[in-house]
Amino acid sequence: MAFYRSHVLVCGGTPCLLGGCRGVKDALVAEIERQGLTDEIKVVETGCLGPCDRGPVLVVYPEGITYVRVKVEDVPAIVAEHLLKGRVVERLVYRDEAGERLVSYAQSTYYGPQKRVVLRNCGVIDPESIEEYIARDGYAALAKALTAMTPAAVVEEIKASGLRGRGGAAFPTGLKWSFTAKAQADQKYIVCNADEGEPGTFKDRLILEGDPHSVLEGMIIAGYAVGATRGFIYIRGEYRQSIARMAKAIARAREMGLLGRNILGTGFSFEVEIREGAGAYICGDETALIESIEGNRGEPRVKPPFPGVHGLWGRPTVVNNVETLANVAPIIDHGAAWFRSMGTENSPGTKVFTMTGDINNEGLIEVEMGIPLRQIIYEIGGGIPGGRGFKMAQTGGTSGGCLPTSFLDLPMDYDTLAQHGAALGSGALLVMDDTHCIVDIIKCFQKFFAHESCGRCTPCREGTVRLYEMIGEISEGRGTREHLRVLEELGRVMTVAPLCGLGQTAAVPLLSCLKHFREEIETHVLEGRCPTGVCKMGKAPVVA
Ligand code: SF4
Repeated sequence: MAFYRSHVLVCGGTPCLLGGCRGVKDALVAEIERQGLTDEIKVVETGCLGPCDRGPVLVVYPEGITYVRVKVEDVPAIVAEHLLKGRVVERLVYRDEAGERLVSYAQSTYYGPQKRVVLRNCGVIDPESIEEYIARDGYAALAKALTAMTPAAVVEEIKASGLRGRGGAAFPTGLKWSFTAKAQADQKYIVCNADEGEPGTFKDRLILEGDPHSVLEGMIIAGYAVGATRGFIYIRGEYRQSIARMAKAIARAREMGLLGRNILGTGFSFEVEIREGAGAYICGDETALIESIEGNRGEPRVKPPFPGVHGLWGRPTVVNNVETLANVAPIIDHGAAWFRSMGTENSPGTKVFTMTGDINNEGLIEVEMGIPLRQIIYEIGGGIPGGRGFKMAQTGGTSGGCLPTSFLDLPMDYDTLAQHGAALGSGALLVMDDTHCIVDIIKCFQKFFAHESCGRCTPCREGTVRLYEMIGEISEGRGTREHLRVLEELGRVMTVAPLCGLGQTAAVPLLSCLKHFREEIETHVLEGRCPTGVCKMGKAPVVA
């Protein structure tokens, strides 16, 4: 085995890839070779390190020096100065919002408050190396489950942990597993829902890219727990790197006897296949996703029966989100009590968020459930660029509620947000400063839903279009009090009448804006002007 005096970890998550990290990595390898350091320094491409807006990011160990916004032209200096002479290249070192030079971003206000369970290996290991995953206790939970626990005991452990689905619905995972475990059938399935379609959400993509084995291990354990022998990972087709990494992970796990027939010699067999989605938002719905895997048009089914007893090809099927499955191995490893020691009573554990919008530190984070929204935005997120004012945060993606300033101290957990008409949802956190017009924002949301409605049921097919038309009329100065009344009434009807979650949540952001930003919307309607002056109505009244 080779020993290296330094390891250079280059972030290979999609945001850094788009920033040119592969070129930086190739240049590093070439320069290290040119300087004759190949036997001393190893360059490793890892999964996402987190600060996506500062990429390409790389970390030099053992010092833990983090360099950000590295360009190919910076590589000779990093090799000649840091790797050869031990002198840090100050101009590239990660600095926090106060401008402090930080040896490692692990010390920063961005990373410090985080708790990494799901992201434990992201940015730490080479995601294409099963050996590195195993070296970090990977597949130990699978071995424990198969050799020391009955399937029922595994289900009970997940139930006791209080883990809830991280895809948006927050249904208790152990309970879901128990329905399928009890069902009698000749074949059962585990489906990993990696069809991440919520705008602003890319956590599942980065989990799959950064630690595919953790998701695979969770699926195999789930299969053992409920008596399933086949699994499908339904991945959004444009997630090319996630698909490639997962395909490699499946192949390597199979080679090592961790997947396939007679896993670890225990007699339990489980096979996994990848299915690529075509990018329809509706296929994030578990029954539409099942239809798509079966080769049909991706439209939701009427429930009940639920997939747990009547799912893929009519057989009992567990559908779990990527993040949910990545939590399974740590729970089996460390126990339900350990998991419950994090988060809140009804929302134990951690949550992975993607922070985007008007926030200084855009990127991927993982925090304990219950953390106040203010701490996420102003500490971890570094606040709002230019010191501008906070207008609102939308949690849970486009279908989530919009939270005004008075909600900044809310704990971020499932129940609290639900009580306030919002949702933790998929983990998207979109921050907007006070320069945005609320009518413009609502119009943007409603356009999205009108486009994504699959058209199967009338309330959603017609309702999403009508909402978009009405908010459009307001934005053009043609709004009346009747518009406000109908928007509210139709919005309320749409929370119950449509067939699936897409239609039922299509009016949630609108309703939350009508509640929290009513005055601003009314100013557009009654005074014919935009208080922020940024939409096309401007600050002055529209003259007919
Ligand atoms: Fe399709 Fe909308 Fe009805 Fe869902 S609610 S089935 S997306 S039309």
